[in-house]
Amino acid sequence: GEFTSLPDIEPSRLEVVNTKQPKQIPAADSLVFGHTFTDHMLTIPWSQTSGWGSPKIEPYGPLSLQPSATVFHYAQELFEGLKAYRQPGGKVTLFRPDMNMKRMNTSAARVALPAFNGDAVIELLKRLVQTDKHWIPDIPGYSLYIRPTLIGTQAALGVHPPTEALLFVICSPVGPYYPEGFKPIALYGTTEYSRAAPGGIGSFKLGANYAPGVVAQREAAKKGYAQNLWLHGPEHHVTEVGTMNTFIVLKHADGVTELVTPPLDGMILPGITRDSTLALARDHASGKAVLEGLPEPSKFVVNERPITMKEIKQAAQDGSLVEFFGTGTAAVISPVNKIGYLGEDIHIPTGPGGMGPVSRPIWKQLVGIQVGDIEHPWSVVV
Ligand code: PMP
Repeated sequence: GEFTSLPDIEPSRLEVVNTKQPKQIPAADSLVFGHTFTDHMLTIPWSQTSGWGSPKIEPYGPLSLQPSATVFHYAQELFEGLKAYRQPGGKVTLFRPDMNMKRMNTSAARVALPAFNGDAVIELLKRLVQTDKHWIPDIPGYSLYIRPTLIGTQAALGVHPPTEALLFVICSPVGPYYPEGFKPIALYGTTEYSRAAPGGIGSFKLGANYAPGVVAQREAAKKGYAQNLWLHGPEHHVTEVGTMNTFIVLKHADGVTELVTPPLDGMILPGITRDSTLALARDHASGKAVLEGLPEPSKFVVNERPITMKEIKQAAQDGSLVEFFGTGTAAVISPVNKIGYLGEDIHIPTGPGGMGPVSRPIWKQLVGIQVGDIEHPWSVVV
């Protein structure tokens, strides 16, 4: 017969079922990250025989799945995380949602979950956020954390591409990650466990990447460190910080400041904050868009390159290590002041209020764009 393609996600087919029991919105200062969810969620079913079904915005509540559903057995699950910000005039915006959709499709392809039209899901995310936008506290630093998720739901044991799947999106109002300003964190350079391996899944946002990190995180916490510094290979290459990407600032003998982040070698999650940080820093370095506060362009270089603990340790000793920080959606930028490594502590300088000379101007610009103080195409109106 003739080939007919199955339906993709179609925003015009959206059904909306409003809650009859709106929840009491908790006081903003009582919010714990990821513990409170809004009144509605978005669900979109998929099946191999009929493609993507009708999207639905419905009251937030339990999903009904068979115990045999593949997600429970083979971790056929992936997720995303992005935020909606309420601007001073009441306008609500998303930060680079196209990047989340692109990454979500890349994750789906890695575990044989179905692909979808990212623009269609952005349209539906906007509808969901509009529905629950009164949940975004009207206080600077607060936002709505959005969690798109895709799971295999086929009710059958056996490891193969699921014939049924469910995309759902839930939303959680969140406060500033560091309510008392930037608190530098201590990392434990983890040599007992690895987060990712060549040919593995470290560069995909799959749930399967996170469960094994919990024990390592707990052990680091027992030793008095806030997060793991994930290392790779015999030379202990720096990869990621907890669930953030890693940036290092070095000031070389010739006076040039170098901003370094490990390359996307298949073991690093392609973070959207990472990409944004690199873009802003490179625009400054090339003179395309000067960022006030950064070293002058002729004395500033940006490199995606491998960096080992040996180099970090040496730089800390000879005074060329200027900063070490993590980047991610939740905290934007997290300064690091200490790395426990092979039985000793490497101390890292931190600037006034926690952030250093390179991270501070980048943080200011990123947050300015996110909350709408700075107009920029990365900010998408809901
Ligand atoms: N690395 C890992 C392992 C993560 O889970 C995250 C959070 N998504 C990041 C880095 C940062 O990515 P993003 O800037 O897109 O939040």
